[in-house]
Amino acid sequence: MSGPIASVDAEPVPLADRPVRDLEIMESRSANVGTMPVRRSLPQRGRRTVGPWCFFDHAGPVDAGTGEAGVGPHPHIGLQTVTWVLAGELLHRDSLGSEQPVRPGELNLMTAGRGIAHAEEHTKAGRLHLAQLWVAQPEATRNGDPAFEHHAELPVLELGGGSDATVLVGRVGDAHSAARRDTDHVGIDIVLRSNVELPAEPSFEYGIVPLEGRLEVEGQVAATGRWAYLGPGRDEIRLRVAEPARAVLVGGVPFDEPILMWWNYVARTREEISAAHRDWTSRTPRFAVPPSSLAPMDVGGPPWAPTV
Ligand code: MN
Repeated sequence: MSGPIASVDAEPVPLADRPVRDLEIMESRSANVGTMPVRRSLPQRGRRTVGPWCFFDHAGPVDAGTGEAGVGPHPHIGLQTVTWVLAGELLHRDSLGSEQPVRPGELNLMTAGRGIAHAEEHTKAGRLHLAQLWVAQPEATRNGDPAFEHHAELPVLELGGGSDATVLVGRVGDAHSAARRDTDHVGIDIVLRSNVELPAEPSFEYGIVPLEGRLEVEGQVAATGRWAYLGPGRDEIRLRVAEPARAVLVGGVPFDEPILMWWNYVARTREEISAAHRDWTSRTPRFAVPPSSLAPMDVGGPPWAPTV
């Protein structure tokens, strides 16, 4: 999945100017990806990134019916997409020739580097519930080759009391994910059936986004539509539940490169984004359009450029 974002929500903020917070409950914003309503936790004016994580959409659960759905071919640069499905199924196709369904419990991880295009189609009738996240790539790799990984098996850390954590990216306790990681960060899916103390890395900041039910994060309530930001300096995170709940936790060392985001691009300058958008719009080989039952996505140019 993917979708347009307004540049007003994604202007670069130098690390030194970002608010320092110990714990903050944030509202997710309502947005639409195609026709599907989503809750967008990142980016926000007050919080562009958590570690290198720069985008977090939570879609559904919805009955997606049997009609054509999903996101047609569109470009990316400078980021990794993390597609995590709780219910339903998506078919990923990209300009590298990858064609990979992703089902609950599996991870699709696409690295855009200097440029890639992909489509994600909803291929199964019925319930759809998923999260799509982006990781900003660091200077060292953001102009590198695009790549795609699928991980059908992911490590699970038992947390006691029937609770567990599936590690998508990075490491928690002894559970390491094999997924590619260009910076020091972590992403996990937590199923909570009991109160847990989750091991944390003091150099990381964290975001915890509830996908089902409600939980207390260090005593503050977060439920669907609200998420918790935690500043660095912790060696554990206390989560409390009265009923079963599920959440995705993202974290990492605060990203020290001010990023500029517009539409599906993560860059450093307006010129880079304008150039990428020209290349997509004119269908240069930088972004080969993958096969899809859905039409390629096209939008007008960025607000700072003359209309083409
Ligand atoms: Mn996308």
